[in-house]
Amino acid sequence: MYDDNNIFAKILRKEIPCNSVHEDEFSLFFHDINPQAKIHILGVPKTQSIDFVDFISHSDQEKVICFFKSINLVIKKLNVNKSGYRLITNSGVDGGQEVPHYHVHILAGEKIGSIR
Ligand code: AMP
Repeated sequence: MYDDNNIFAKILRKEIPCNSVHEDEFSLFFHDINPQAKIHILGVPKTQSIDFVDFISHSDQEKVICFFKSINLVIKKLNVNKSGYRLITNSGVDGGQEVPHYHVHILAGEKIGSIR
């Protein structure tokens, strides 16, 4: 069950500030508070989704498409399309997810190390 007391829900409700890079009707993108690369952006859809499977399974198609289009837009806005980036989403205990609101990480700005 989705818990709307999670930190990203509070950020979406503007109860907690964030360093925003892009916002639209369906999503918000902002700088990670503990960056793991020179550029570390979090992309959060404005749906009550716990993780990727929850988002894809229970959201309107329009919202899913718009979220992924917004990721594309932000990658271009960051100007890292040519240099490269890593797109990550964590889910659950094994995936190491800390915040139970679906989100993607965009890591860029330097060579990102191997996954393991
Ligand atoms: P995950 O492990 O995929 O759930 O990642 C959660 C991410 O949220 C971590 O990289 C945290 O550094 C980041 N984070 C937690 N609180 C905040 C916040 N208030 N503003 C920005 N990023 C945050």
